Amino acid sequence: MWDRLLTDCHVATMDPAVPGAFGAIEDAAVGIQDGRIVRVGRRVELAGYRAQRVEPLGGAWVTPGLIDCHTHLVFGGNRAHEFEQRLEGATYEEIARAGGGIASSVKATRLASREELVEQARPRLHALMRGGVTTVEIKSGYGLDLPSEIKMLEAAKALGEGEPVRVVPTLLALHALPPGEEREAFISLAVNEMIPAAAEAGLAQAVDAYCEGIGFAPDEVRALFEAAAEHGMRVKLHAEQLSNMNGAALAAEFGALSADHLEHADEAGIAAMAKAGMVAVLLPGAFYALRETKKPPVDLLRRYGVPIAIATDCNPGTSPVLSPTLMLSMACTLFHLTPEEALAGMTVNAAKALGLEKEIGTVAAGKAADLCVWRVSRPAELSYWIGHPGPEKRIVGGEDS
Ligand SMILES: [Zn+2]
Repeated sequence: MWDRLLTDCHVATMDPAVPGAFGAIEDAAVGIQDGRIVRVGRRVELAGYRAQRVEPLGGAWVTPGLIDCHTHLVFGGNRAHEFEQRLEGATYEEIARAGGGIASSVKATRLASREELVEQARPRLHALMRGGVTTVEIKSGYGLDLPSEIKMLEAAKALGEGEPVRVVPTLLALHALPPGEEREAFISLAVNEMIPAAAEAGLAQAVDAYCEGIGFAPDEVRALFEAAAEHGMRVKLHAEQLSNMNGAALAAEFGALSADHLEHADEAGIAAMAKAGMVAVLLPGAFYALRETKKPPVDLLRRYGVPIAIATDCNPGTSPVLSPTLMLSMACTLFHLTPEEALAGMTVNAAKALGLEKEIGTVAAGKAADLCVWRVSRPAELSYWIGHPGPEKRIVGGEDS
Protein backbone atom coordinates (compact mmCIF):
# COMPACT_ATOMS: atom_id res chain seq x y z
CA MET A 1 0.00 0.00 0.00
CA TRP A 2 1.29 3.45 -0.93
CA ASP A 3 1.55 6.35 1.52
CA ARG A 4 -0.40 8.77 -0.62
CA LEU A 5 -2.42 8.85 -3.78
CA LEU A 6 -3.09 12.29 -5.28
CA THR A 7 -6.02 11.89 -7.62
CA ASP A 8 -8.63 13.85 -9.59
CA CYS A 9 -5.89 16.16 -10.84
CA HIS A 10 -3.94 17.05 -13.97
CA VAL A 11 -0.18 16.68 -13.95
CA ALA A 12 2.33 18.85 -15.81
CA THR A 13 5.05 16.23 -15.49
CA MET A 14 7.66 18.35 -17.35
CA ASP A 15 9.12 14.96 -18.23
CA PRO A 16 10.51 15.03 -21.79
CA ALA A 17 9.56 11.35 -22.08
CA VAL A 18 5.86 12.27 -21.80
CA PRO A 19 4.61 13.61 -25.14
CA GLY A 20 2.72 16.87 -25.50
CA ALA A 21 2.94 20.34 -24.00
CA PHE A 22 4.19 20.41 -20.39
CA GLY A 23 4.39 16.60 -20.53
CA ALA A 24 0.83 16.89 -19.34
CA ILE A 25 -1.35 14.00 -18.21
CA GLU A 26 -4.97 15.05 -17.80
CA ASP A 27 -7.35 13.33 -15.40
CA ALA A 28 -4.34 11.89 -13.64
CA ALA A 29 -3.12 10.48 -10.34
CA VAL A 30 0.24 10.34 -8.55
CA GLY A 31 1.32 7.59 -6.13
CA ILE A 32 3.82 8.44 -3.38
CA GLN A 33 5.75 6.02 -1.17
CA ASP A 34 8.65 6.73 1.22
CA GLY A 35 9.03 10.27 -0.04
CA ARG A 36 9.28 9.31 -3.68
CA ILE A 37 6.96 9.20 -6.65
CA VAL A 38 6.18 5.58 -7.42
CA ARG A 39 3.71 6.01 -10.23
CA VAL A 40 2.15 8.78 -12.28
CA GLY A 41 -0.44 8.20 -14.95
CA ARG A 42 -4.04 8.44 -15.97
CA ARG A 43 -6.43 8.13 -13.06
CA VAL A 44 -7.99 4.98 -14.50
CA GLU A 45 -4.56 3.34 -14.73
CA LEU A 46 -3.95 3.92 -11.01
CA ALA A 47 -7.46 3.02 -9.91
CA GLY A 48 -6.45 -0.42 -8.64
CA TYR A 49 -3.85 0.90 -6.19
CA ARG A 50 -4.51 1.55 -2.53
CA ALA A 51 -2.95 4.18 -0.31
CA GLN A 52 -3.05 5.28 3.33
CA ARG A 53 -4.28 8.64 2.16
CA VAL A 54 -6.29 9.14 -0.99
CA GLU A 55 -6.49 12.85 -1.81
CA PRO A 56 -8.85 14.04 -4.55
CA LEU A 57 -7.59 17.43 -5.71
CA GLY A 58 -10.73 18.64 -7.46
CA GLY A 59 -9.14 19.16 -10.86
CA ALA A 60 -6.07 21.09 -9.66
CA TRP A 61 -2.80 21.02 -11.59
CA VAL A 62 0.23 19.26 -10.10
CA THR A 63 3.72 20.33 -11.17
CA PRO A 64 7.20 19.49 -9.97
CA GLY A 65 8.18 21.71 -7.04
CA LEU A 66 9.87 24.86 -8.33
CA ILE A 67 13.66 24.92 -8.28
CA ASP A 68 15.40 28.29 -7.88
CA CYS A 69 18.85 27.40 -9.21
CA HIS A 70 20.60 30.77 -8.78
CA THR A 71 20.26 32.89 -5.65
CA HIS A 72 22.35 34.95 -3.25
CA LEU A 73 19.74 34.53 -0.52
CA VAL A 74 22.11 34.78 2.47
CA PHE A 75 23.52 38.25 3.13
CA GLY A 76 23.68 40.83 5.88
CA GLY A 77 21.48 43.94 5.83
CA ASN A 78 19.85 45.10 2.63
CA ARG A 79 20.20 47.98 0.20
CA ALA A 80 16.74 49.53 0.28
CA HIS A 81 18.27 52.86 1.31
CA GLU A 82 20.52 52.85 -1.77
CA PHE A 83 17.47 52.11 -3.89
CA GLU A 84 15.90 55.29 -2.50
CA GLN A 85 19.11 57.26 -3.08
CA ARG A 86 19.33 56.11 -6.68
CA LEU A 87 15.73 57.09 -7.31
CA GLU A 88 16.59 60.52 -5.90
CA GLY A 89 19.33 60.83 -8.50
CA ALA A 90 22.49 59.42 -6.89
CA THR A 91 24.65 57.37 -9.26
CA TYR A 92 26.04 53.89 -8.55
CA GLU A 93 29.50 55.47 -8.46
CA GLU A 94 28.53 58.06 -5.83
CA ILE A 95 26.91 55.36 -3.72
CA ALA A 96 29.95 53.11 -4.08
CA ARG A 97 32.30 55.95 -3.10
CA ALA A 98 30.26 56.49 0.05
CA GLY A 99 30.81 52.83 1.01
CA GLY A 100 27.59 51.54 -0.52
CA GLY A 101 26.99 48.95 -3.18
CA ILE A 102 28.43 45.49 -2.73
CA ALA A 103 30.87 46.84 -0.12
CA SER A 104 27.97 47.59 2.22
CA SER A 105 26.64 44.04 1.86
CA VAL A 106 30.12 42.66 2.52
CA LYS A 107 30.46 44.80 5.63
CA ALA A 108 27.06 43.78 7.00
CA THR A 109 27.69 40.12 6.16
CA ARG A 110 31.05 40.10 7.92
CA LEU A 111 29.56 41.75 11.01
CA ALA A 112 26.62 39.34 11.28
CA SER A 113 26.91 36.06 13.17
CA ARG A 114 26.02 32.84 11.40
CA GLU A 115 22.74 32.74 13.33
CA GLU A 116 21.94 36.33 12.37
CA LEU A 117 22.54 35.51 8.71
CA VAL A 118 20.17 32.56 9.01
CA GLU A 119 17.44 34.63 10.65
CA GLN A 120 17.79 37.48 8.16
CA ALA A 121 17.53 35.05 5.24
CA ARG A 122 14.61 33.07 6.64
CA PRO A 123 11.78 35.45 5.61
CA ARG A 124 13.25 35.62 2.11
CA LEU A 125 13.33 31.83 1.98
CA HIS A 126 9.73 31.69 3.23
CA ALA A 127 8.66 34.05 0.45
CA LEU A 128 10.26 31.81 -2.18
CA MET A 129 8.65 28.76 -0.60
CA ARG A 130 5.23 30.41 -0.62
CA GLY A 131 5.79 30.94 -4.33
CA GLY A 132 6.32 27.21 -4.82
CA VAL A 133 10.06 26.71 -4.36
CA THR A 134 11.04 23.29 -3.01
CA THR A 135 14.77 23.48 -3.87
CA VAL A 136 16.92 26.57 -3.71
CA GLU A 137 20.56 27.12 -4.57
CA ILE A 138 22.31 29.64 -2.31
CA LYS A 139 25.68 31.19 -3.13
CA SER A 140 28.26 32.61 -0.78
CA GLY A 141 30.20 35.63 -2.05
CA TYR A 142 29.50 38.49 0.36
CA GLY A 143 32.10 37.39 2.90
CA LEU A 144 35.17 37.68 0.68
CA ASP A 145 37.47 36.33 3.35
CA LEU A 146 37.86 32.74 4.41
CA PRO A 147 35.95 32.75 7.72
CA SER A 148 33.09 34.87 6.33
CA GLU A 149 32.68 32.73 3.20
CA ILE A 150 32.59 29.58 5.34
CA LYS A 151 30.13 31.30 7.68
CA MET A 152 27.84 32.05 4.72
CA LEU A 153 27.94 28.45 3.51
CA GLU A 154 27.22 27.19 7.01
CA ALA A 155 24.33 29.65 7.29
CA ALA A 156 22.87 28.36 3.99
CA LYS A 157 23.12 24.79 5.26
CA ALA A 158 21.59 25.64 8.65
CA LEU A 159 18.78 27.56 6.94
CA GLY A 160 17.85 24.48 4.91
CA GLU A 161 18.02 22.13 7.87
CA GLY A 162 15.32 24.08 9.68
CA GLU A 163 12.85 24.26 6.79
CA PRO A 164 11.00 21.88 4.45
CA VAL A 165 13.12 22.80 1.44
CA ARG A 166 16.27 21.48 -0.18
CA VAL A 167 19.18 23.93 -0.07
CA VAL A 168 22.10 23.54 -2.46
CA PRO A 169 25.03 25.72 -1.37
CA THR A 170 27.55 27.09 -3.90
CA LEU A 171 30.92 28.65 -3.13
CA LEU A 172 30.94 31.93 -5.07
CA ALA A 173 34.66 32.37 -4.52
CA LEU A 174 35.29 35.21 -6.97
CA HIS A 175 32.33 37.59 -6.65
CA ALA A 176 34.05 40.93 -6.09
CA LEU A 177 37.43 42.21 -5.01
CA PRO A 178 37.11 43.13 -1.33
CA PRO A 179 37.67 46.85 -0.64
CA GLY A 180 41.36 47.61 -0.14
CA GLU A 181 42.47 44.10 -1.08
CA GLU A 182 45.33 43.37 -3.47
CA ARG A 183 44.12 41.48 -6.53
CA GLU A 184 46.63 38.66 -6.69
CA ALA A 185 46.43 38.01 -2.96
CA PHE A 186 42.65 37.64 -3.16
CA ILE A 187 42.75 35.24 -6.12
CA SER A 188 45.32 33.21 -4.24
CA LEU A 189 43.07 33.14 -1.17
CA ALA A 190 40.13 31.88 -3.26
CA VAL A 191 42.21 29.27 -5.08
CA ASN A 192 44.42 28.03 -2.26
CA GLU A 193 42.23 28.45 0.81
CA MET A 194 38.52 28.90 0.07
CA ILE A 195 38.20 25.95 -2.30
CA PRO A 196 40.13 23.45 -0.17
CA ALA A 197 38.28 24.54 2.99
CA ALA A 198 34.82 24.32 1.38
CA ALA A 199 35.66 21.00 -0.29
CA GLU A 200 37.05 19.46 2.90
CA ALA A 201 34.02 20.51 4.97
CA GLY A 202 31.62 19.37 2.23
CA LEU A 203 29.96 22.76 2.40
CA ALA A 204 29.47 23.48 -1.29
CA GLN A 205 28.25 21.48 -4.26
CA ALA A 206 29.92 23.72 -6.83
CA VAL A 207 32.23 26.68 -7.31
CA ASP A 208 31.13 29.87 -9.04
CA ALA A 209 32.69 33.16 -10.15
CA TYR A 210 31.71 36.50 -11.69
CA CYS A 211 33.45 36.81 -15.03
CA GLU A 212 33.03 40.44 -16.08
CA GLY A 213 34.98 43.63 -16.71
CA ILE A 214 33.98 44.83 -13.24
CA GLY A 215 34.48 41.32 -11.81
CA PHE A 216 37.17 38.83 -12.69
CA ALA A 217 39.07 38.17 -15.90
CA PRO A 218 38.95 34.83 -17.72
CA ASP A 219 42.49 33.85 -16.68
CA GLU A 220 41.60 34.46 -13.03
CA VAL A 221 38.46 32.35 -13.39
CA ARG A 222 40.53 29.65 -15.10
CA ALA A 223 42.86 29.44 -12.09
CA LEU A 224 39.83 29.05 -9.82
CA PHE A 225 38.23 26.37 -12.01
CA GLU A 226 41.48 24.40 -12.15
CA ALA A 227 41.56 24.37 -8.35
CA ALA A 228 37.89 23.32 -8.24
CA ALA A 229 38.63 20.42 -10.60
CA GLU A 230 41.54 19.34 -8.42
CA HIS A 231 39.15 19.14 -5.49
CA GLY A 232 36.51 17.27 -7.47
CA MET A 233 34.03 20.17 -7.47
CA ARG A 234 31.76 21.12 -10.37
CA VAL A 235 31.75 24.71 -11.59
CA LYS A 236 29.29 27.30 -12.89
CA LEU A 237 29.82 30.87 -13.99
CA HIS A 238 28.21 34.33 -14.06
CA ALA A 239 29.03 35.02 -17.71
CA GLU A 240 28.32 37.56 -20.43
CA GLN A 241 26.01 39.71 -18.30
CA LEU A 242 27.28 43.19 -19.18
CA SER A 243 29.81 42.36 -21.89
CA ASN A 244 31.19 39.38 -23.78
CA MET A 245 34.28 37.98 -22.03
CA ASN A 246 33.98 34.50 -23.61
CA GLY A 247 33.04 33.20 -20.18
CA ALA A 248 30.52 30.71 -21.55
CA ALA A 249 33.19 28.98 -23.63
CA LEU A 250 35.60 29.04 -20.70
CA ALA A 251 32.99 27.41 -18.47
CA ALA A 252 32.33 24.81 -21.18
CA GLU A 253 36.03 23.87 -21.18
CA PHE A 254 35.62 22.85 -17.55
CA GLY A 255 32.39 20.91 -18.09
CA ALA A 256 30.44 23.50 -16.08
CA LEU A 257 26.91 22.81 -14.92
CA SER A 258 25.71 26.18 -16.21
CA ALA A 259 26.56 29.64 -17.42
CA ASP A 260 24.27 32.28 -15.98
CA HIS A 261 22.95 35.67 -17.23
CA LEU A 262 24.27 35.42 -20.85
CA GLU A 263 22.73 38.63 -22.22
CA HIS A 264 25.89 39.24 -24.29
CA ALA A 265 26.63 35.61 -25.21
CA ASP A 266 27.57 34.95 -28.83
CA GLU A 267 27.11 31.95 -31.10
CA ALA A 268 30.55 30.47 -30.39
CA GLY A 269 29.87 30.53 -26.65
CA ILE A 270 26.48 28.94 -27.05
CA ALA A 271 27.84 26.25 -29.38
CA ALA A 272 30.47 25.45 -26.74
CA MET A 273 27.79 25.25 -24.06
CA ALA A 274 25.73 22.87 -26.19
CA LYS A 275 28.71 20.61 -26.76
CA ALA A 276 29.51 20.53 -23.04
CA GLY A 277 25.91 19.72 -22.11
CA MET A 278 25.53 22.89 -20.05
CA VAL A 279 22.41 24.73 -18.97
CA ALA A 280 21.80 28.44 -19.72
CA VAL A 281 20.42 30.10 -16.59
CA LEU A 282 18.55 33.30 -17.46
CA LEU A 283 17.87 35.89 -14.76
CA PRO A 284 15.05 38.25 -15.75
CA GLY A 285 14.95 39.94 -12.33
CA ALA A 286 18.45 41.38 -12.74
CA PHE A 287 17.68 42.34 -16.35
CA TYR A 288 14.61 44.22 -15.11
CA ALA A 289 16.17 45.86 -12.06
CA LEU A 290 19.18 47.10 -14.05
CA ARG A 291 16.86 48.33 -16.82
CA GLU A 292 18.93 46.32 -19.32
CA THR A 293 17.91 46.34 -22.94
CA LYS A 294 20.12 43.62 -24.42
CA LYS A 295 18.23 40.37 -24.14
CA PRO A 296 19.84 36.94 -23.89
CA PRO A 297 20.00 35.15 -27.26
CA VAL A 298 17.07 32.82 -26.68
CA ASP A 299 16.73 31.85 -30.35
CA LEU A 300 20.37 30.73 -30.47
CA LEU A 301 19.91 28.72 -27.28
CA ARG A 302 16.90 27.01 -28.85
CA ARG A 303 18.70 26.38 -32.12
CA TYR A 304 21.63 24.73 -30.34
CA GLY A 305 19.35 22.83 -27.98
CA VAL A 306 20.83 24.36 -24.81
CA PRO A 307 18.38 23.80 -21.94
CA ILE A 308 17.17 27.11 -20.49
CA ALA A 309 16.68 27.57 -16.75
CA ILE A 310 15.15 30.60 -15.01
CA ALA A 311 16.01 31.81 -11.51
CA THR A 312 15.32 34.73 -9.19
CA ASP A 313 19.00 35.67 -8.65
CA CYS A 314 17.64 36.97 -5.33
CA ASN A 315 20.32 39.37 -4.10
CA PRO A 316 20.40 42.72 -2.28
CA GLY A 317 21.79 44.79 -5.14
CA THR A 318 20.71 43.91 -8.65
CA SER A 319 17.80 41.51 -8.16
CA PRO A 320 15.89 41.82 -4.89
CA VAL A 321 13.35 39.29 -6.11
CA LEU A 322 11.20 37.25 -3.74
CA SER A 323 8.75 35.72 -6.21
CA PRO A 324 9.65 32.74 -8.38
CA THR A 325 6.38 32.97 -10.30
CA LEU A 326 7.17 36.60 -11.18
CA MET A 327 10.28 35.21 -12.90
CA LEU A 328 8.10 32.84 -14.92
CA SER A 329 6.08 35.84 -16.07
CA MET A 330 9.13 37.99 -16.81
CA ALA A 331 10.82 35.14 -18.70
CA CYS A 332 7.83 35.15 -21.05
CA THR A 333 7.25 38.89 -21.28
CA LEU A 334 10.86 40.11 -21.32
CA PHE A 335 12.67 37.17 -22.95
CA HIS A 336 9.82 35.74 -25.06
CA LEU A 337 9.93 32.26 -23.61
CA THR A 338 6.75 30.22 -23.90
CA PRO A 339 4.98 29.40 -20.62
CA GLU A 340 6.11 25.80 -21.10
CA GLU A 341 9.75 26.87 -21.54
CA ALA A 342 9.48 29.11 -18.48
CA LEU A 343 8.12 26.31 -16.30
CA ALA A 344 10.78 23.91 -17.63
CA GLY A 345 13.22 26.63 -16.60
CA MET A 346 12.21 26.35 -12.96
CA THR A 347 11.80 22.57 -12.92
CA VAL A 348 13.51 20.06 -15.21
CA ASN A 349 16.22 22.38 -16.54
CA ALA A 350 16.89 24.01 -13.17
CA ALA A 351 17.48 20.53 -11.73
CA LYS A 352 20.07 19.93 -14.45
CA ALA A 353 21.74 23.27 -13.67
CA LEU A 354 22.30 21.91 -10.16
CA GLY A 355 23.35 18.43 -11.28
CA LEU A 356 20.23 17.02 -9.60
CA GLU A 357 18.32 15.88 -12.68
CA LYS A 358 18.18 12.28 -11.48
CA GLU A 359 16.59 13.31 -8.18
CA ILE A 360 14.17 16.20 -8.84
CA GLY A 361 12.69 18.39 -11.58
CA THR A 362 9.98 16.21 -13.12
CA VAL A 363 6.95 14.28 -11.93
CA ALA A 364 8.18 10.81 -12.77
CA ALA A 365 8.44 7.45 -11.03
CA GLY A 366 11.64 7.27 -8.99
CA LYS A 367 12.02 11.00 -8.43
CA ALA A 368 11.68 12.64 -5.02
CA ALA A 369 8.05 13.58 -4.31
CA ASP A 370 8.64 17.35 -4.47
CA LEU A 371 5.40 18.73 -5.89
CA CYS A 372 3.22 21.81 -6.08
CA VAL A 373 -0.57 21.74 -6.36
CA TRP A 374 -1.94 24.80 -8.17
CA ARG A 375 -5.56 25.93 -8.37
CA VAL A 376 -5.31 26.93 -12.03
CA SER A 377 -7.15 25.91 -15.17
CA ARG A 378 -3.99 25.35 -17.22
CA PRO A 379 -0.25 25.46 -16.48
CA ALA A 380 0.23 28.61 -18.59
CA GLU A 381 -1.51 30.51 -15.77
CA LEU A 382 1.67 30.23 -13.70
CA SER A 383 3.40 32.67 -16.03
CA TYR A 384 0.28 34.53 -17.20
CA TRP A 385 -0.36 36.08 -13.78
CA ILE A 386 2.28 38.70 -13.03
CA GLY A 387 3.54 37.17 -9.79
CA HIS A 388 1.10 34.35 -9.07
CA PRO A 389 0.94 34.11 -5.26
CA GLY A 390 1.87 30.44 -5.25
CA PRO A 391 0.57 26.93 -4.96
CA GLU A 392 -2.28 25.75 -2.80
CA LYS A 393 -0.04 23.00 -1.46
CA ARG A 394 3.68 22.26 -1.47
CA ILE A 395 4.88 18.72 -0.97
CA VAL A 396 8.57 18.10 -0.19
CA GLY A 397 9.88 14.56 0.06
CA GLY A 398 6.30 13.30 0.15
CA GLU A 399 5.28 15.53 3.08
CA ASP A 400 2.98 18.56 3.06
CA SER A 401 4.71 21.74 4.09
ZN1 LIG B 1 24.17 35.88 -9.33
